[in-house]
Amino acid sequence: MIKFKACGRCGGDVYFNADRRGVDVYCLQCGSRRFFSPEEMRALNAQTVADAQANEEVQKAA
Ligand SMILES: [Zn+2]
Repeated sequence: MIKFKACGRCGGDVYFNADRRGVDVYCLQCGSRRFFSPEEMRALNAQTVADAQANEEVQKAA
């Protein structure tokens, strides 16, 4: 699923790819990438995604 203009860094379109491990979230414009576990997803909303991409210090959960 794609959420338009949701990137916290560049305001670009963000792609959500869910699988059994969680959700891979990345920006189609700037490449900003984050992985969210199912536990994190429970508390996730658009602002959380934007904040995570803006900070980007935690890059990998796998
Ligand atoms: Zn971006």
